[in-house]
Amino acid sequence: MKGQSSVPQAGIESTLGDARLQLAIYTATGRLIDHRKKAVSEEALPDYQELRRIAHELKRHTIENLDYYLAQVERKVAERGGKVVYCEDGAEVSRFVLELARARGERLVVKSKSMTTEEIHLNEALESGQVEAVETDLGEYLLQLAHERPYHIVAPALHKTRYDVADILTGSLGVERETEPEKQTKIARGVLREKFLEAGIGITGANFVVAGSGAVVVVENEGNARLSSSAPRIHIAVAGIEKLIPRARDLAVFLKLLGRSATGQALSVYTSFLAGARREGEADGPEEFYLVLLDNGRSKLLADRDKRESLYCIRCGACLNHCPVYRKIGGHNYPWIYSGPIGAIITPQFHGVEQDPWLPFASSLCGACAEVCPVKIDIPKVLLKLRAEVTASGARGGTERRVFRVWAWVMAHPWWYGVLGKMAAALSPRPAGGGWVNKLPGWMAVGPLGSWLKERDLPPPAEQSFRSQWERRRRGA
Ligand code: SF4
Repeated sequence: MKGQSSVPQAGIESTLGDARLQLAIYTATGRLIDHRKKAVSEEALPDYQELRRIAHELKRHTIENLDYYLAQVERKVAERGGKVVYCEDGAEVSRFVLELARARGERLVVKSKSMTTEEIHLNEALESGQVEAVETDLGEYLLQLAHERPYHIVAPALHKTRYDVADILTGSLGVERETEPEKQTKIARGVLREKFLEAGIGITGANFVVAGSGAVVVVENEGNARLSSSAPRIHIAVAGIEKLIPRARDLAVFLKLLGRSATGQALSVYTSFLAGARREGEADGPEEFYLVLLDNGRSKLLADRDKRESLYCIRCGACLNHCPVYRKIGGHNYPWIYSGPIGAIITPQFHGVEQDPWLPFASSLCGACAEVCPVKIDIPKVLLKLRAEVTASGARGGTERRVFRVWAWVMAHPWWYGVLGKMAAALSPRPAGGGWVNKLPGWMAVGPLGSWLKERDLPPPAEQSFRSQWERRRRGA
């Protein structure tokens, strides 16, 4: 576990100051917002709100009966010739995959996009065990070449323009510089096709795991998950324990919501139901199938009645696209791979509120995230609970508490309120263009007050206090 982290001030300032990056984030998230809006409109999906309600209920029911559904899925997977492997943390997953690779003499793994394996740094662990892991989702592949982590849950390379992609491909593969997306895709496909054919193990994530049938459901647009799960001899699906849903028919609700909330598609291009190893008479499919169910802190969330709804998330990314904070600071300034509002609520719960105490405060509490969440997670409510926990832990909030105590006292004493209002108006420096936090007198920019003010854009006080303006108006001046 890392030590306590503070606000990544330098990273945030550099993101805010990078006009190209700001445009890339705004354009990409803006497009996703528009597509989603159309896809869930009254004309396109009249029962959208009802579907959200049912999805919330289904998730609540599954999470509250997870022990039952875990036992059921284990049985069903075994009936289909596969095996469920429970792993406490990332180290156990890596150990399992490496031991299996060694036992079967495999040295190459193809992977399709999976935030769960990103969460546990599986690629790095495999590489340190001399097993090559190749990402096959185009965005993830580019980021692997660029040695970067995903910027967004659904669109990992959302921050890259086609010119960035051209640089990555030329720099890493030594190919001629191509700036047309079709040609760039062709280059990547040429490399990846060979890897699919060579690899002995394919690792995918899972959007849903159907307890009633033991099937892993993978939703994607590129077809690489389908290839990763069927071309190699061995398929390993890695999923968090919260990915379970009771029955296949529940997908009628979740699939209608997932594609629409993520990209505005009525249905993603490929929806694969992967159930066990190849059976007699079947033309394709893996010889061995393993479903790795990962805890990695999830049971801790499960035990917390107040905040366990954080586990309902289906990773659609809609809350990121609509979050005014994510849209300004981007994905890499969040401390973990889960960014945006969902990252702000699950990171402190997985890692402990003391580790990134600033994170639950990195929100305007505008509520846009809760409004668009297809499973109706009340993210602002969870953020407020986390803020209270951070303050109670003493990791943050001392200065804030003192400042608000003083403020409350001033508000309760009208004479002082009037005097201080006039003083603030008279003494206020008014730098052109605002942003006066960075131009505060030196004595205010140090110590706890300085760091408190650094995280806030403090507008300069009005030239006249409210009382003076009121008085003037009353006198008709
Ligand atoms: S919290 Fe809701 S909106 Fe955000 S990624 Fe998860 S399901 Fe989507």
